[in-house]
Amino acid sequence: MTRTTPRAAVSHELDDAVHALIGHRLRNHIDSDGAIRSGYSESVYDEIRAELAARQGDGGSLRPRSLPPAWVEGLDWLSDVDATVAAWHPDAGGDNGHTETVRRLNLLAATAWAPEYRETVDEWIAQLRRWAEAGKGLLEPVHRWELVAACPACQVRTVHRPDTAGEYVRQAALQITADGCVCQSCHTRWAPTHYRLLAAALGCELPTGVLE
Ligand SMILES: [Zn+2]
Repeated sequence: MTRTTPRAAVSHELDDAVHALIGHRLRNHIDSDGAIRSGYSESVYDEIRAELAARQGDGGSLRPRSLPPAWVEGLDWLSDVDATVAAWHPDAGGDNGHTETVRRLNLLAATAWAPEYRETVDEWIAQLRRWAEAGKGLLEPVHRWELVAACPACQVRTVHRPDTAGEYVRQAALQITADGCVCQSCHTRWAPTHYRLLAAALGCELPTGVLE
């Protein structure tokens, strides 16, 4: 399959794919007055690094055996991202306070790639998107519930997302985790304190055990 996309669109896509991994993430939440407000959280990459550092202590030595299985996966994810990005762009530029991987990815996205790099850039984009999705999966608590109802904000009921093996699976748009309910489509978030409000908007019963 060959797609003909203008080069500007390619660099825009690369920019987006890099942002999905190392950019701050916009998160919407519903306030107590019912209004949708926005805020930013750390990037997927930084959150996973921080999570691993917290679980491993500051000793500097990696002790994968002491990590729960999900975080052994997190360690693999981080090693894969760091090693692959280093191969893509060996030059990490000058130290600007960011990690080498973040600096390399920013340099990668800032470069105007000539048309002969088109295929390579497309491969990077695909890989960056897979990492971002898999990373988000790692950051989500293991236990979650699905609400089989249309999202009150965007009306979407089901989404298709890659699992850790990269296979696309069908999921309810509204997923409840320890942090709250998040729409996988428009990313609107309801804090647990607003579940009653959400339930009222959906006109449905919440799964047992969700409410305190
Ligand atoms: Zn939604």
